[in-house]
Amino acid sequence: MIRIKDKIFTPYLDRTVIENRVKELGKQLSEDYKDKDPIIIGVLNGSFMFLSDLVKHIQIPAEISFLKIASYQGETSTGKVKNLIGLDAELKGRHVILVEDIVDTGLSMVHLLNLINEKQPLSVKIVTLLHKPEALKHPVKIDYLGFEIPNKFVVGYGLDYDGFGRNIPEIYQLKINSDQHISKNQIKRKMLNIVLF
Ligand code: 5GP
Ligand code: MG
Ligand code: MG
Repeated sequence: MIRIKDKIFTPYLDRTVIENRVKELGKQLSEDYKDKDPIIIGVLNGSFMFLSDLVKHIQIPAEISFLKIASYQGETSTGKVKNLIGLDAELKGRHVILVEDIVDTGLSMVHLLNLINEKQPLSVKIVTLLHKPEALKHPVKIDYLGFEIPNKFVVGYGLDYDGFGRNIPEIYQLKINSDQHISKNQIKRKMLNIVLF
């Protein structure tokens, strides 16, 4: 169990489980993109750890670039996407592999696909480590998926809670589901119980 700011998180996916899946995805991409000179685009900040592990298992030379967007505040989506660092790579005629940490409502992906498609790539495929099918509001086709997860907030392995926790090498799940609309006082009381216990 770990605590980040006011929240308690419990272990969900351990290191070896993640490592094995990332290795498999890398192998698959190596086969599918043989002779295609792909450009891999990581979505900052969340994808940095996944991307750096994934590309080590892609056994063909690939170009790597990043862009940065923000849609989350704390543990809920704001429903709006901001471009913080734009897309500077030339994508015309290229095979693009877009790498995300997690597809939740799908809003960020739809926004990013529009942005990328304007640049006339030959193809665009989506790789995401995590996906919450129950939270999806904007349909997107995920081409390569690490893990399907329930609709609960997760941190670690690149994912943050309010800016913290991206450095944790495993993935943790919020102990008290924010969907249950528990009041702040109730959370405080629960945390107090845990601390007292
Ligand atoms: P979407 O636009 O699909 O709703 O959300 C995408 C972005 O929101 C993700 O790339 C990620 O940065 C953030 N996000 C969505 N769900 C979670 C979650 O459970 N934990 C964390 N830390 N970030 C999330
Ligand atoms: Mg992200
Ligand atoms: Mg975030």
